[in-house]
Amino acid sequence: MAQVISPKTLDTSQITTNPQDYDYDLVIVGGGIVGLTLASALKDSGLSLLLIEARVESAAVMKGQAYAVHMLSALIYQGIGVWDKILPNIETYRRVRLSDANYPNVVEFNTEDIGKDDLGYVAEHQALLHPLQEFVKNCQNVTILCPAEVVETQYLQDAAVTTIKVAGKTQTIRSKLLVAADGSRSRIRQAAGISTSGWKYWQSCIVAFVKPEKSHNETAYEKFQASGPFAILPLPGNRCRIVWTAPHEEAKTLCELDDEQFLQELSQRYGSQMGKLELLGERFIFPVQLMQSDKYVLDRLALIGDAAHNCHPVGGQGLNLGIRDVAALAQVIQEAHQAGKDIGDIKVLQKYERWRKLENLTILGFTDLLDRVFSNTFLPIVIVRRLGLLTMKYIPLVKVLSLKLMIGLLGKTPKLAQR
Ligand SMILES: Cc1cc2nc3c(=O)[nH]c(=O)nc-3n(C[C@H](O)[C@H](O)[C@H](O)COP(=O)(O)OP(=O)(O)OC[C@H]3O[C@@H](n4cnc5c(N)ncnc54)[C@H](O)[C@@H]3O)c2cc1C
Repeated sequence: MAQVISPKTLDTSQITTNPQDYDYDLVIVGGGIVGLTLASALKDSGLSLLLIEARVESAAVMKGQAYAVHMLSALIYQGIGVWDKILPNIETYRRVRLSDANYPNVVEFNTEDIGKDDLGYVAEHQALLHPLQEFVKNCQNVTILCPAEVVETQYLQDAAVTTIKVAGKTQTIRSKLLVAADGSRSRIRQAAGISTSGWKYWQSCIVAFVKPEKSHNETAYEKFQASGPFAILPLPGNRCRIVWTAPHEEAKTLCELDDEQFLQELSQRYGSQMGKLELLGERFIFPVQLMQSDKYVLDRLALIGDAAHNCHPVGGQGLNLGIRDVAALAQVIQEAHQAGKDIGDIKVLQKYERWRKLENLTILGFTDLLDRVFSNTFLPIVIVRRLGLLTMKYIPLVKVLSLKLMIGLLGKTPKLAQR
């Protein structure tokens, strides 16, 4: 069983500050989905881990988000051994329909295109986070410190020194490696002086949950419109999640409409295929940005997930990239540990950076291109993209390659996904 230390039970003698020793081999900052996935992936690594999360467990689970979970992510969770706890509470999709405004040539991807039973899955935040939290609690080699906050980090030649505040007390922890999984505004990345490249989009994203009158038929939709992509993702209980991208002002106005007016606008975008819609719960608005950290690693530090990169939500890539970062980093540091190497050494960590940085950049570029090309009303671009859709629809090789790129089956497959 993992040791879960809460401020009430914290025995400060458990955290040593002896400069000669390491308190843990590895410290993970951030117990979101990505940080928890890394702790789970290192279950049998022989490494000792400390996972630090700022928010109490019950608050962390209550995020009104849902994610498209791609095939490769599912294989990684199968390799970790947690997939059977996730699968019962998420929805499988077996069809994806891509369309360009009113253009009648819709591209439909099916399971037969890649010879699999499923194309992908859609999971609400808690349906992923909760089983991961429970899984990590059963990992002997993991100590969880929650709620606790990192206030300072220092990187010495032989150790990362993390200063944390927990229950009003300050403690320092020495480890061979610090992993930042603390999200897009990563304070660990900023404090380490790692710069980023990218831009904020002219669009925001509205997310909402709806219940359609007719069956969602295990189909995911990506409808490209001049204002931005509009996605419908199927969820359990015949609910759907909407990800509606629009220029900031339009998105703000839409979000401020009363429920009835919002539903009217939504129904126009949605089409009639699923009948009348019922709005479930609150809607949220998110700004959208593209960001790539200029470095993923320094001596004794590695960035994963949103701490390393952010992309446009089109195609539901962001979290999936983070899960692939985890599988790559876990493989690199386990191999180094087994070979008796120092897991915090920059030469070891650069293998992870070389593996993931270019793959992530490709997807960041792909999502950016999709958003720009499909939001464009300039006639030559409209013609080119519609030719692109026709090519995808009628040339099987192009169709299969596009699908494999979207669901993560084109890059290097980590060992975790091959088990
Ligand atoms: C509108 C929208 C739709 C999206 N849809 C999809 C989708 O369909 N599919 C997909 O794959 N991705 C999607 N994404 C992207 C996805 O939401 C993110 O990529 C993902 O949530 C990142 O997870 P993370 O664990 O890296 O970061 P986070 O979820 O931000 O977790 C970071 C954790 O670190 C903790 N933390 C922060 N600072 C500290 C500190 N100093 N000390 C201790 N703990 C700390 C936080 O409390 C938090 O728990 C979407 C994004 C948006 C905006």
